[in-house]
Amino acid sequence: MALIIRIDVDRPYGRRPLLRHFLSRLSSDLYFPRLAGFGFLAELETILTLLNEARARAYVFFRRCTLPSRSILKLLDIGRHEIGLHLENSRSLPTFLEETQIVERHVGRKVLAVSKHGSGGGEKYGFHHYAPYEPARYVEWAQLASMRLFLGNLEDPTLQPTKAATGLLVFPSAFWLEPSWRDTKEFTVGWLLDRARYQDIVLLVHPENVLADPELVTDFKRLIGTLESRVLE
Ligand SMILES: [Zn+2]
Repeated sequence: MALIIRIDVDRPYGRRPLLRHFLSRLSSDLYFPRLAGFGFLAELETILTLLNEARARAYVFFRRCTLPSRSILKLLDIGRHEIGLHLENSRSLPTFLEETQIVERHVGRKVLAVSKHGSGGGEKYGFHHYAPYEPARYVEWAQLASMRLFLGNLEDPTLQPTKAATGLLVFPSAFWLEPSWRDTKEFTVGWLLDRARYQDIVLLVHPENVLADPELVTDFKRLIGTLESRVLE
């Protein structure tokens, strides 16, 4: 059993400093070009470098404003990571298919995995974002699109995965590395190190949040350096 590493790429320019935070908002709400000079996807690059050094493989989920640059694609290929859709516009099947196609056209390969941006708190994160969290619908759509994996946003990491008739694998929850979305008393990093030896558990990280906290970086390195991680073949 192993870690299923899930990386949601939310912010094209991270959170810091203020100018980059502003450019992230601008890219998400309106438009801003992908410029290496302002550190486009710099945080993801750091995380992928750590993963590649540890020979850990991950699922990396992209929004339309965080589509990978050429240098990111190279790091993804070197580490044999999987590219997924981080779904924003989940209003309907057509909007889901449209976003899938945007990622597929950009990366030139079929997308087999999906995660949802935002956990349904009613807040709108970006121009295209549709806030409700409706996992049963995504499971249905993912099957229609012949996808293989849906990773859900629930926060109890003990929930077991299920397999749909079409072979779509569904993990309803994740171990959120960032403590705001985790019961940190019960689900410690020690708990995960122990538990992932006999159960597949999704480890969810947002690069800009993890890198902003040295303790989380230490936890992340320890997890990927200790546990087996895998993508589902
Ligand atoms: Zn997100």
